Amino acid sequence: MADIGIDLGTTNSVLAFLRGGPEVISIKGKSTLPSVVAYDDGQFIVGSAAKSLAAAIDDVVVSPKRGMGTDQQYSVAGKTYTPVDISAMILEEIKKHAEEYLGEPVQNAIITIPAHFNHKQVEDTREAAERAGLKVGQLLAEPVAAAAAYGSGSDEVILVFDMGGGTLDCTVIDMFDNQILGLSGDNWLGGDDFDQRIVDRMLKEMEAEGVDISEIANDKKFRIKLKQKAEIYKINLSDTSRAQVEYVGKVAGAACYIDFSLTRNEYNELISDLVDRALEKADEAVERAELKKSDIDVILLVGGSTLTPYVQERLEAHFGKPASKRVDPMLAVGLGAAICTRDLAVGAAEHAVRLRSRAEIWSDSTYPLRGRTTGDSKIEVTGGAEPVDGAADESGQFSVDVPLKENAVNDLTVVAVSPAGETAKAVYRIRHDIQAEQAEEPEEIPPPKPTLPRNILLGLIDHHIAKIIGAGSNLPTCGESDQFFCEPNPYPFKLQIPVYEGHDPNHEIPFGPFNTALGTMYIDCPPTPQQTQLVLSFEVNESRDITIRCWF
Ligand code: ADP
Ligand code: MG
Repeated sequence: MADIGIDLGTTNSVLAFLRGGPEVISIKGKSTLPSVVAYDDGQFIVGSAAKSLAAAIDDVVVSPKRGMGTDQQYSVAGKTYTPVDISAMILEEIKKHAEEYLGEPVQNAIITIPAHFNHKQVEDTREAAERAGLKVGQLLAEPVAAAAAYGSGSDEVILVFDMGGGTLDCTVIDMFDNQILGLSGDNWLGGDDFDQRIVDRMLKEMEAEGVDISEIANDKKFRIKLKQKAEIYKINLSDTSRAQVEYVGKVAGAACYIDFSLTRNEYNELISDLVDRALEKADEAVERAELKKSDIDVILLVGGSTLTPYVQERLEAHFGKPASKRVDPMLAVGLGAAICTRDLAVGAAEHAVRLRSRAEIWSDSTYPLRGRTTGDSKIEVTGGAEPVDGAADESGQFSVDVPLKENAVNDLTVVAVSPAGETAKAVYRIRHDIQAEQAEEPEEIPPPKPTLPRNILLGLIDHHIAKIIGAGSNLPTCGESDQFFCEPNPYPFKLQIPVYEGHDPNHEIPFGPFNTALGTMYIDCPPTPQQTQLVLSFEVNESRDITIRCWF
């Protein structure tokens, strides 16, 4: 029985295992497997063959990872499939190749997931793996896996700059304890956008040659073919200073000939604003880690798009140091996952308990704590709102719903007791931060109490502000904003709240400049994958200190 590591990527997946050092297992001669599933000739096809069919047939699903955690459905050959179904097919293909190569069944798999995945996305990934017949040893954050491939044991601070096909993830990690210090990114920025820029350029040239490109807009398959050409072209430009492409095909039934050439400098210009955006995200991750650019010891290139020389050059110039070339960017995450299977083996050797829950801030009143211990142990968790018991199954997996102390730090201690009476302990800190229910109305405020001399107002866009607490209120007091919407944000973020004090207690002027700014308050918020309604509550104590809470 062997353990494997899997980078289940949006664009490509990688399979690796540990033999002394980590090694990639090639699938059909290639080190990466395109995350594409097609249905043709009565069967499902996964990987490169499916990708090449994308321009020829309709029954093709690309990047099912994008749909994880959503209700998206794909229609393939008259039936509907979920992102979990399609991801399970990719994982099944990977498992099959692993077992053929290793010549033995796969025991555990470490599968990587983006660091910002929410609970539902994590659970969907777990379900896809289980459906593919894989036992999930751990779901590991991609940047943590990449950092493991870079090498552990140092106390460097690294920036993992992961630019794949369609997504950018920037993560600052303290290598000393593998702690994520800050993260940022863009779910719609990557190599696909580079390809599209080349396609746009090709179309422009075709238009100049008199081709009616309005026909192309309606020809989905031709557009896919152009994009595939553009990708090959782009990859060539990573090695050469000029690339040439010739293409003969049909657009809406008419023959079309393209002879297109581009120099690397011209290409760099085409993508320079996209690279600007990527660098802004890298800066944001560093800011969220509360560090300066100069605090970053190592820049780790991860993801196929970082093979673009211009991306490397710009990143190096921006941070003023060379990026590490120690690990192959396309393979770093998969290799790191394989390295981490070593921990699974350690767990089996002695009675130990490992926790694999990753959230540090949680807004529900219970937290699904998951982990692994050696064999069928009893699990006791203390440190939450009340102690809870659970049990690990035969393979050592356990999941315990822990009630949390609300709006407080919960230092959980997890003890696993084996049938032989051996105990193993692990600790885990989770902060419950956002009140799930509305606070009870404060009890009658006994007079005499200080009163608030002026209105407290909340600033909104364009200087428009709303009264939250009126002048003359007895202190302490509280008030609430109206509900408003917060845009989807896959990363933890800070909400900025400008707070004003009314200028004249007798007149309410709902316009910023006529009031006095008290300052801007910031609230740390967890990721909000969908557009989310939120309410801000303000509390003012006797000393007129203002506390703001955010309720989703
Ligand atoms: P993901 O993490 O999204 O699965 P990958 O890390 O596999 O993605 O990166 C895929 C992207 O990398 C694609 O857009 C591909 O075109 C691009 N890519 C692969 N090789 C190169 C190269 N040599 N130069 C530039 N881009 C490349
Ligand atoms: Mg990736």
